[in-house]
Amino acid sequence: MYSFTYQAPRARVLFGSGTVRELSNELGRLGSMRALFLATPRQEEYVRKCAKAVGPVAVGVFANATMHTPISVTEEALSVVRDLRVDGIVAIGGGSTTGLGKAIAWRTDLPQIVIPTTYAGSEMTPILGETAEGQKVTRSDPRILPETVIYDVELTISLPRGAAIASGINAMAHAVEALYAGDRNPVVDLMAVEAISALHGSLPDIAESHKAGQARERALYGAWLSGICLGSVSMGLHHKLCHTLGGMFDLPHAELHAALLPHTLAYNSPEIPGVIDKLRHVFKNSDPAAWLFEFNQRLQVKPALADLGMPEEGIESVVDAVLAKPYKNPRAPGREALIKLLKRAYAGMHPAP
Ligand code: NAD
Repeated sequence: MYSFTYQAPRARVLFGSGTVRELSNELGRLGSMRALFLATPRQEEYVRKCAKAVGPVAVGVFANATMHTPISVTEEALSVVRDLRVDGIVAIGGGSTTGLGKAIAWRTDLPQIVIPTTYAGSEMTPILGETAEGQKVTRSDPRILPETVIYDVELTISLPRGAAIASGINAMAHAVEALYAGDRNPVVDLMAVEAISALHGSLPDIAESHKAGQARERALYGAWLSGICLGSVSMGLHHKLCHTLGGMFDLPHAELHAALLPHTLAYNSPEIPGVIDKLRHVFKNSDPAAWLFEFNQRLQVKPALADLGMPEEGIESVVDAVLAKPYKNPRAPGREALIKLLKRAYAGMHPAP
């Protein structure tokens, strides 16, 4: 028996269809009378409608949330927070919008309600990754964890097919890394296997018909569990590589996770036989890393980092940055091996056997 520590997340979670209509009640529960709504430019129109629906409690909409949470954007939002004397944050969107809400909360301790519209999972974590000058800095603090999360399957229907698939595999990556985390525990193990199974089962149906209601529900359920995994235990080489690549080259977050996961799993496979057995069982395939690569191909996920905008000459500097401050990982990250891994991922090749 291994020893472990288990800390339950303290967030309040509402899950269902049409749950966004609970927003007024939830704002009331938190005692918020002057809420600022956050959005990306793409989701501004919908978020303005939500703000209108709650009435005068919504004092403003800041619709400039940006991927990788640039600190300059957070500073703009903070000046709106001060000018409007905001006492609560409502973030409606994917991880970028959630990230902005968390960045504000970390600096102000304002309560947050997050309504996620992708499968990124950020809403369940006390982790904030921010970028300035091409570097992503990650911190964890209890103030960062949102107080309330409202999962509404209806809000995920508009997420385009390709974005939904990549985001679902991004969620799967949290659960896969949780299975071999040094600080894992039996509860998180159960959630991780359930999350991977829910996502693996639902994403092909979403690929077939992006309006597949039941599959969308199952994927969101898997994303919630994956988010808990991400927020509960430490992540390894896969997340370190993604943070470094994302921060350095501003690559699309979900697509990057999806393209890299088969490679990082193949890299770790020799050191995690127990995890590989669990994944074999879920995927019904003897080689989970190779299977994930094929799964990506079947669901038309772009396999090559080159196609996501990574410059080939960046490979060595990424590896240097990863090795300068590595995350704990089952297999030690060697320089030559990581260069080889990134070269294969850059070119969209199969993961190394
Ligand atoms: P995103 O939030 O950037 O969304 C991508 C685009 O899709 C945006 O334009 C967004 O407005 C749009 N979109 C989102 N949901 C939609 C919907 N339902 N319908 C139509 N359009 C929709 O992408 P993401 O992958 O969710 O989040 C990525 C960001 O989240 C990164 O910055 C990443 O670092 C961060 N993140 C942080 C954590 C954490 O725990 N700190 C975890 C996961 C991701």
